[in-house]
Amino acid sequence: MASTVIGLAEINSGSFNVDGVNRCGERLGELVLELRPDRLEAPDIGPTPVMTDRGELDRQAVGRAFVATKRPDAPLQVLVFGHLDTVYPHDSAFQKVTRSGNTLLGPGVADCKGGLVAAVEALRAIEAAPWREEVGWRLAAVPDEEVGSAGSKAWLQALGDGCRLGLGFEPALPSGGVAAARKGSLTAHLVVHGRSAHVGRSHGDGRSAILALARLVQRLEGHNGSPGVTVNCGRVSGGGVLNAVPDLAVGSFNVRVDSAAAHQTIETAFAAAVTEATSDGIEAMVHWTSARPSKERSAALDELLAEVVAAAEALGQSVLAEDTGGSCDGNDLAAAGLVNVESLGICGGGIHSPDEFALLESLPRRAALVVEIIDRHRA
Ligand SMILES: [Zn+2]
Repeated sequence: MASTVIGLAEINSGSFNVDGVNRCGERLGELVLELRPDRLEAPDIGPTPVMTDRGELDRQAVGRAFVATKRPDAPLQVLVFGHLDTVYPHDSAFQKVTRSGNTLLGPGVADCKGGLVAAVEALRAIEAAPWREEVGWRLAAVPDEEVGSAGSKAWLQALGDGCRLGLGFEPALPSGGVAAARKGSLTAHLVVHGRSAHVGRSHGDGRSAILALARLVQRLEGHNGSPGVTVNCGRVSGGGVLNAVPDLAVGSFNVRVDSAAAHQTIETAFAAAVTEATSDGIEAMVHWTSARPSKERSAALDELLAEVVAAAEALGQSVLAEDTGGSCDGNDLAAAGLVNVESLGICGGGIHSPDEFALLESLPRRAALVVEIIDRHRA
């Protein structure tokens, strides 16, 4: 299992590295072949919207998704899911995996390639179980999770149709626990057009897009502290030569919300802010390019989480369910009606950083936990 994780992690599959993402999917396909799936597919997922520094909406290819299907007519259908992409681009300095004892340090070892290997191990154990005929599974991996799954969302949601249960292999929480409620995550871009003018001769005729954007950033980040809302402007671009009033500025935001009401509130706030900023030579627009809804506690989710905790106890493991600010494909699946728990992957930490690590001994434990959960759901 360790060498399989290392092999997968050393295929760079940063989001938008189409070749790498596709190779990662092909490798996953090879691993799954010995489970003799009824069907293997690698559909091309549509391009995802991206904002250019020039304030133009563009679309960028993300590569192929992966799905293996086994026993689609069995009484219990389970969607097992993860993602092929990582946050480390093709030219990242973080490309190699090092192992010391129980620990792997490397890109994507926890998020979520170790999880994909844990998923395959769990399915291997199910295929060896005497009750396997009662269980059908779909193992799906999307190519664009780390950039919001805008292209793959509908595809994954459709795979969840007809499933009673969703089990995702995002990394475990730092405590080793699984996520309960998750915040929603939204991507917004503000594009501000102003009016250029010579700084020395006619500064007063200009309308600075950068100044207008700065005011918008300040206003919108002012929502931090409101209940259930986090606003972060993580990227700005614009302007050009220093002796001209800048006529273009672009600001890109990640927004987190803990409820549908908070989602609505912040969308309204962005709309009001750009409307009010638009006047006297300034034109501001907002573009939302991805939106994962919050995953809120429900009776069905609480019941599943209680089962996960009980299954762990039965195996002598201690696994707690905790709320988290991170979001993932489980949010979109829950919004489509599939009850799911999605942090069943490998334990580790430092995800989305050059310190990402995974704890190998957790891999068979997580696989065993998933088998126990499925065993409790059959019949
Ligand atoms: Zn992930």
